[in-house]
Amino acid sequence: MKKIYICFPEGKHKVFTLSYDDGCLADRRLLEIFNKYSVKATFHLNSGLFGANENVRDRIEEGEVKKLYAGHEVSAHTVNHPTIARTPKEELVYQIMEDRRKLERIVGYPVRGMSYPNGSYNNRIVELLPHLGIEYARVVGGHQTFKMPENYLKWQATCHHNENSIERAKEFVDLHKTQVLYMFYVWGHSYEFDNDDNWELIEELCSIVSGRDDIWYATNIEIFDYMNAVEKLKFNVDRTQVINPSHMSVWIEIDGVKKEINPGLQSI
Ligand SMILES: [Zn+2]
Repeated sequence: MKKIYICFPEGKHKVFTLSYDDGCLADRRLLEIFNKYSVKATFHLNSGLFGANENVRDRIEEGEVKKLYAGHEVSAHTVNHPTIARTPKEELVYQIMEDRRKLERIVGYPVRGMSYPNGSYNNRIVELLPHLGIEYARVVGGHQTFKMPENYLKWQATCHHNENSIERAKEFVDLHKTQVLYMFYVWGHSYEFDNDDNWELIEELCSIVSGRDDIWYATNIEIFDYMNAVEKLKFNVDRTQVINPSHMSVWIEIDGVKKEINPGLQSI
């Protein structure tokens, strides 16, 4: 009996991702660390709060966004960080669409994800987001496991970096059951490392998780897009042929053998 599993790129079964909110100046130092260890992160930015102004301080300047976050994902976080469960629907639409528009003009690609400012959301918002071009949205808190999300519009991380993240990192690199897809997802705000004086924590975390052959390092949207593509594979009944209707290659494992499935129809 043939056994087929979906895999991450190159047949991997573990993915590591990070998510940091608000675009504060400490992102500069955080990105140096992420780039040093070649890990990938998503940064949720408020397009109406760039630079110092009367509302906030210590925010990244608009002019440095494209270069600073290159190689990572820039994602939405509303224009100026309201508690959106309290906002009228017209304001909500503006806060999300205008944030997307401004960020897209800066980075030059469609912005299709967000994190909920102040962790605020409700079912009405979750139902609205796909109509605003938002395909995933991160909530606050952590479930302390390595499970894949069931609903990408209520995507919860494994943990905040201050919530036992080093223990989780050690567990994650030791996971060897290849029949399961595992995700380790850490979130936070870069300014917390200044406030808590614990930059060594994120350095240690990255040093534990980085540089491993069995881990895929990806941004939030890369994970969403890949899973969307691999879950759309269409097999014949005998599972000797498969159609990949997406624009990207995906990977499966057939009786323990990893196989790349290119777009289109192919025999397996
Ligand atoms: Zn925020």
